[in-house]
Amino acid sequence: MAVARVDPQRLNGTLESLGNIGSTPEGMQRIAFSPADVDGRQFVIDLMQQAGLAVRVDTAGNVIARRAGRDGERPAIAMGSHVDTVPSGGRYDGAVGVLGAIEVVRSLNDLDVVTRHPVEVLVFTNEEGTRYHRWLFGSRAMAGLLEPADLEAVDSEGVSMAERLKAIGGDMVRVSEAGRQKGELCAYLELHIEQGPVLHRSGIPVGVVTGITGRIVFDVRVIGAANHAGTTPMDARKDALLAASRLIQAVNDIATSEGMCRVGTVGMMTVAPNAVNVVPGEVGLGAEFRDIDVKRLEDAERRLNEVSQQIAAATGAEILVKREELGQSATTSGSLQDMVVAAAQRLGLDSRPIPSGAGHDAQAMAAITDIAMVFVPSVDGLSHSPREYTTPEACADGANVLLNTLLMIDESLD
Ligand SMILES: [Zn+2]
Repeated sequence: MAVARVDPQRLNGTLESLGNIGSTPEGMQRIAFSPADVDGRQFVIDLMQQAGLAVRVDTAGNVIARRAGRDGERPAIAMGSHVDTVPSGGRYDGAVGVLGAIEVVRSLNDLDVVTRHPVEVLVFTNEEGTRYHRWLFGSRAMAGLLEPADLEAVDSEGVSMAERLKAIGGDMVRVSEAGRQKGELCAYLELHIEQGPVLHRSGIPVGVVTGITGRIVFDVRVIGAANHAGTTPMDARKDALLAASRLIQAVNDIATSEGMCRVGTVGMMTVAPNAVNVVPGEVGLGAEFRDIDVKRLEDAERRLNEVSQQIAAATGAEILVKREELGQSATTSGSLQDMVVAAAQRLGLDSRPIPSGAGHDAQAMAAITDIAMVFVPSVDGLSHSPREYTTPEACADGANVLLNTLLMIDESLD
């Protein structure tokens, strides 16, 4: 089969246009459900319609655009990602996957190729979970993985997700109808920027994702006793911040010197009363561990509980560790990985296997279909930052790999 190629100028033109929606000097602000997110979704829907796709919005607000296949009732090959961003985020995270998929469809149109399987382009609602802290909302809804907390979520402005969902064409009361059955899709492909430095450092243009990391998240409360910083003797204190600082170190140790999981982070802290002349009375921490092996995450959790008790005994503070969320890891399909490698080869592009340290919609979709992910380099490994950058050539390489992988799947799957 001849090597099919996308139109790089057209792809990068759409990336630039979407990148202007919600752009500020401090970075992208296309937060899920915000006016900019709604505008971004509309921009994408317009492109889909111009490409001749049949577009619908499901009850979870996901955009589903479909191109008919040649042979009757085959399952669809889906491609997709998200258009929401984190606050002060970048132009490429999510956008490359959605616009790359649309470019693939436009290229199929140009080449007059009608695939045997239907092709779908999916845009998932609220991938980042900035609002409501319920990330991968749309893809989990499609995969039937929603939890009661998703349905009841209310944001810091007191507005329910149900209400914001209605504004983008969804319906929380009927959100379970967004779930799809195994067998409706025969594969899900996601093109994404790496969001790490491996490809950029190695100079290899294509990453073939071997699996997507699991994540365990904790809400930690450290309760001491607030008291006068001048009159409370050192041996009579229950200093919550001192205990919390030891716990922060312990989270780092669990992932480094103890080697129990791949990474561990405390990224959030609140201190009360937060006054320079008061012994801290209470501290809240947000902590997480990530690893592809869920068993290792559970071991790390056990260790965190153990260390918390030791620190509590040593400092007199009470420490409560509550597991908020366990995001399962996902493996990508071996045969689809092989096809990504072959597609890159066909295009004359080097590729390498790479695990994903970040979460993606693909990991939810893995519950209902085989998945594969294609990574392209992030310059200097930067992401979730206004400085996030992937070169126009790299974006085109990624879309070309997506196109040729899709054609290979279409040929080989029954
Ligand atoms: Zn993303």
